[in-house]
Amino acid sequence: MKQKEKADIIIGNGVILTVNNNDEIINDGAVVIKKNKIIDLGKSSDIKNKYKTKKEIDAKNGVIMPGLINTHTHLAMSIFRGLADDLPLEKWLNEYIFPAEDKFVNEKFCYWGTKLSLAEMIFSGTTTFCDMYFFEKETGRAAEEAGVRGIIGEGIVSAFGDEDKIFNNKTRLTKDLLKEFKNSPLISIAIEPHSCYTCGKEILIKFKEFAKENNLLYIIHLAETKKEVDEIKNKFGMSPVEYLDKIGVLDEMTLAAHCVWLDDKDIEILKNRGVKVLHCPESNMKLASGVAPVYKLLKDNVVVSLGTDGSASNNDLDIFSEMDSAAKLAKVSTLDSTVVSAKETVRMATINGAKVLGMENEIGSLEIGKKADIIILDFNRPHLVPVYDYYSHLVYSVSGSDVETCIIDGKVVMENRKILTFNVEKTIKEVNKIASKISN
Ligand SMILES: [Zn+2]
Repeated sequence: MKQKEKADIIIGNGVILTVNNNDEIINDGAVVIKKNKIIDLGKSSDIKNKYKTKKEIDAKNGVIMPGLINTHTHLAMSIFRGLADDLPLEKWLNEYIFPAEDKFVNEKFCYWGTKLSLAEMIFSGTTTFCDMYFFEKETGRAAEEAGVRGIIGEGIVSAFGDEDKIFNNKTRLTKDLLKEFKNSPLISIAIEPHSCYTCGKEILIKFKEFAKENNLLYIIHLAETKKEVDEIKNKFGMSPVEYLDKIGVLDEMTLAAHCVWLDDKDIEILKNRGVKVLHCPESNMKLASGVAPVYKLLKDNVVVSLGTDGSASNNDLDIFSEMDSAAKLAKVSTLDSTVVSAKETVRMATINGAKVLGMENEIGSLEIGKKADIIILDFNRPHLVPVYDYYSHLVYSVSGSDVETCIIDGKVVMENRKILTFNVEKTIKEVNKIASKISN
């Protein structure tokens, strides 16, 4: 008899939603993990004959799928959750968020705020995030401790200070991050100027050069509100997209968050330059920024992924509810229920997220050789019965709390809804301590 190969973890007895190029679904499937990779997947019976392991996870007929990817967020802002709601973006930012940030945001704030968000993300099935905020060394440190994959970058705002000084400071901080996380299996670094209305032209260009030299993603908020578009048009006689194109910062390494106010010419530019779009439907709805033309972008083969934005404008980090909102918003805004299907929406939250981050060969689908970033959902729940179409349930019926188990880089970070990598109660306590100072 042929000897069975040793594996580290086998997840069995589940429905595997691979999200591969053929959208293959394997009923009664099993996934085999060795070190941090998927080494095999297929029918449970075949896998059992080929592999042995000490760690078996029973998916109990639930769904085994790639971990979700949140491509735009500001994790530490979860401490500001519910601090200022029901306001337009400019008022919300200028009168509430920016002053509160000036007063309260420091290393400790960012460490514990991120830790809180990491718990929330693991609980709701997000295994990779892309963050823009401050004191990002703390964000990276917290993510490494939690075992969550992330892209981090210092938020760059230059409009209110000495641009040269800010450039030097942020360059130093970014170099620090590059050094600190050089060998990290989980953390990578990006360049993240906030927007073209909070950053000067020189700094936008200089940081694009820095990004190119170091082969880093360049991430920016773009065309989020009508006010932004009007302001840039008044100042430069062109749209924010045209402006960024003119100064030469748009290319396939540029990721643009929101992209709500685009005209056909803007879409053409984004498409031609290979810019990726980070769609944040719930933040756009809550701040009444508008509706991003996701249907048009997808039709034009622009890669669109999902983001929650920060918890102060959402107010949660649940990508399952973001999927639900993305699909429904696209339909109601076009008055066409056939656009942005459930399957397309699941792809936006998984493989498109991986493509956006340049990680499509590593994560975003369950395939042999990819990293083991996997979530298991409990489908033995009234709101998920019966099942005719798994994609439909994932977008319209599942919520984050249906995630039972979460594996990142081959490591079990949550099992049976218990986070194994860090102390969630202590995190909540520390966040409440910080919040008590803010509410005083
Ligand atoms: Zn944002």
